[in-house]
Amino acid sequence: MKQKTVIGNWKNYLNGVETIKLSKQIVGEKISDYIRLMISPCNLYLNEVNEIMKESSVEVIGQNITSYDSSSDTGGVTAIGLNDIGVNRSIIGHSEVRKRNKGFKSEDILKEIMPAQFKFILCFENTQQIPFNILNNDFEMILAYEPVWAIGTGETASIEHINEIHGSVKSELSKLNLDIPVLYGGSVNPNNSKEILSQELVDGVLVGGASTKYEDLHKIINSI
Ligand code: PEP
Repeated sequence: MKQKTVIGNWKNYLNGVETIKLSKQIVGEKISDYIRLMISPCNLYLNEVNEIMKESSVEVIGQNITSYDSSSDTGGVTAIGLNDIGVNRSIIGHSEVRKRNKGFKSEDILKEIMPAQFKFILCFENTQQIPFNILNNDFEMILAYEPVWAIGTGETASIEHINEIHGSVKSELSKLNLDIPVLYGGSVNPNNSKEILSQELVDGVLVGGASTKYEDLHKIINSI
């Protein structure tokens, strides 16, 4: 079986005490070699969570970046700022970010961070949002199919639908000789994670709500 990636996107669901408690529970988990776990806490707690996870195999990642270098963007998050605190990867283009920032074009931020090899997970709701022409194999990048109607709604995409989208993305990637994992996100929970994670075309899952509850996350990472 190939290794699958599980990303827990904690969004802004947890306060500081809850974030630290959950991080300490997770760091005590025995994680199988078939699972690679990444956790994306709210920016406020990134440093503390990274400190807790530093001796573990759990990677702490950002939820968004707005520029590579320092900028005048109030409330923005820079890639070099994340690097500074030992965080070398971030989610980009989450549908909640796209909704806030109507002019969002992943190409703009990717052109800034890719030369610096800052790792990312690019979320897409449809294949037009994937800038195939600028992706490359020079360092690790990940794509995550996140149909907006499935995010936080309890309505998971069907296995047929997931396979259809992942199949078409993977076929485009292979035409370009690109080896980029494709994850699925949208109401993944302990009841559907086994089936989703066991699909050949699914390289992992991006989990929001369920990843903020220890029992659910524990079950998801132990479902394969
Ligand atoms: C997400 O935040 O990316 C997500 C998929 O959320 P949920 O699992 O709650 O649908």
